[in-house]
Amino acid sequence: AQAELKNFFGKETVTADGDRVELFCNIGTPKDAKKAIECDGEGIGLFRSEFLFMDKPHLPTEDEQFEAYKEAVETMSGKTVIIRTLDIGGDKDIPYLGLEKEENPFLGYRAVRYCLANKDIYKTQLRGLLRASAYGKVKIMVPLVTCVDEVRAVKALVEECKQELKAEGIKYDENIEVGCMVETAAASLIADLLAKEADFFSIGTNDLTQYTMSVDRGNANVAYLYSAFQPAVLRSIKNIIQAGNAAGIPVGMCGEAAADPLMIPLLMSFGLDEYSVNPVLVLTARSIISKWSKAEADALAEKALSLSTEAEVVALLKASAK
Ligand code: PEP
Ligand code: MG
Repeated sequence: AQAELKNFFGKETVTADGDRVELFCNIGTPKDAKKAIECDGEGIGLFRSEFLFMDKPHLPTEDEQFEAYKEAVETMSGKTVIIRTLDIGGDKDIPYLGLEKEENPFLGYRAVRYCLANKDIYKTQLRGLLRASAYGKVKIMVPLVTCVDEVRAVKALVEECKQELKAEGIKYDENIEVGCMVETAAASLIADLLAKEADFFSIGTNDLTQYTMSVDRGNANVAYLYSAFQPAVLRSIKNIIQAGNAAGIPVGMCGEAAADPLMIPLLMSFGLDEYSVNPVLVLTARSIISKWSKAEADALAEKALSLSTEAEVVALLKASAK
């Protein structure tokens, strides 16, 4: 199987019908970008920026952030690099921020909520990102969006940072795209509205599953409910992709489900444009995608969506796996 996978190195990612999709990588540090290249990733679909904030005992400066983003961008030499803005809270604590202990951290003060309430911290990051955008193809991605107001507020801050940089004579990409992660039940239900504001979507199935199933993603006692193959999660994924497609914006997926061989034909059928996976899974995902035609994927997806339980869905997908 390893030998067969090698044949996919250096190739485009195409379905059995020859339709091209993008196959990107998830990374956590600028050094990981090298890994993405070595593993033949076609871009970065999720650069988790938290490491910059967790690595040191204080907030990273604008220059430190700029250097880190630029390193990843230059390593990717012109390929797309989607950088997610700070996603702290929930399971990711940063001691020096002195955040209050919360009863329900996953439902609390985290990610874009924290950033919009701390505009100085957020603008420092956005300026670093904008400056890095002068060195390649950077896209900004906003985590944990639940309403249109948040996307508008982030875009307004990006505009503010652009004007500042312009006045200071610092280069950046004028046309930088701002997209949102769709990883909450709320975002999924208003995907059509968000698609009017965002330049792209990326589905975060790790959180989407958590917030759709009302299951703490780290709690072993309820882990049996934590599955992206639950009918509720599948319907949600389909709705998000179709809303993005209808609005003409690209839709990616950077949650773990994007690399799952059982999930891939369903995503193909729903019309996913970009898959972002752990670098070591690039060739496996490319190989699975190459095996399915749209017609076969559609037939499977129709059956899968007619089923009532997660167990039935998984049994069907396993029996149909290639
Ligand atoms: C997700 O929620 O699916 C995701 C990709 O982000 P994280 O796992 O960092 O929350
Ligand atoms: Mg997430």
